Amino acid sequence: MKAVLIRRHGGPEVVEIADVPKPRPGPGEALLQVKAAGMNHLDTWVRRGLPGLKLPMILGSDGAGIVAEVESGPGGLAQGDRVFVAPGYSCGRCAACYRGEEPLCRDYRMFGENRDGVQAEYAALPAANLLPLPASLSFEEGAAFPLVFLTAWQMLVGRAGVRLGDEVLVHAGGSGVGSAAVQIAKLHGARVYATVGSEEKADKVRALGADAAINYRALDFLEEVRRLTGKRGVDIVVENVGQETWEKSLKALARGGRMVTCGATSGYDGRTDIRYVFSKGLSILGSTMGGRAELLTIAGLVADRRLRPVIDRVLPLDRVAEGHRAMADRTLFGKIILKP
Ligand SMILES: [Zn+2]
Repeated sequence: MKAVLIRRHGGPEVVEIADVPKPRPGPGEALLQVKAAGMNHLDTWVRRGLPGLKLPMILGSDGAGIVAEVESGPGGLAQGDRVFVAPGYSCGRCAACYRGEEPLCRDYRMFGENRDGVQAEYAALPAANLLPLPASLSFEEGAAFPLVFLTAWQMLVGRAGVRLGDEVLVHAGGSGVGSAAVQIAKLHGARVYATVGSEEKADKVRALGADAAINYRALDFLEEVRRLTGKRGVDIVVENVGQETWEKSLKALARGGRMVTCGATSGYDGRTDIRYVFSKGLSILGSTMGGRAELLTIAGLVADRRLRPVIDRVLPLDRVAEGHRAMADRTLFGKIILKP
């Protein structure tokens, strides 16, 4: 079968379309015929190299398809079922797992990072990671929402506790996580400001529901937040940029504000002025992924069209390198989906 494989770390040129044996599901696993696979920034980090990674590795953390093989028995999954992939897996028997806080499990891992992912014609995955794809959703939509909506949901709802009337700043509103965060914050009754890198993206992020878009290439986002909030600041900042924006993001918070971070794409060495943290009663919250319970909630909201996965383009699997380049130059609005 065809698969997106890396055998060594490096630039987009190390991503190859390899011919590899079709995987065979082990105990508790099912074989997924992949109909659509999502691309995520995690793919580029795995490609460039992360500590402890083993190669070769098939990339891809989320996707959707049809169950091709599954052991018969209790559990409900059957051959022919339309499903989407929950991107993370964990031990299933520790306190964090029983609480539904799988990402806090010491054995929490991701497809396409710690074991072969789903950018392939077939993938053997734990049956528990294959969740029902609502009938109203296409495979492409089913591949577009899991990782980014789960990340944004956990940040805003699970960690920052977004409430009706909150003012929320979302960085990189045109990114996968950003476009999800704008919609989730609006769904909870917040007023949302989103930073974007172009006027074209400003229009698109307003169409998603943002009350204002801030072109960070033309304007200082901190000054804009102060202007938009009458100098009060925002209640929540959704951070995934890191070093470039960290210090100003803290200064953009109102008293009692919460800054929640899920990444540091521009670097991890952000400066924190501790005086702001204690004198304004700020909270700095870390967040990564989320639990399967939240993923089912999100799937229902996507099926009802109350949340909308944003797809920039759909590419055939063998054009995956083009996707890596597009993610690097920040020209995307939303997600790239690969079709095996
Ligand atoms: Zn566990």
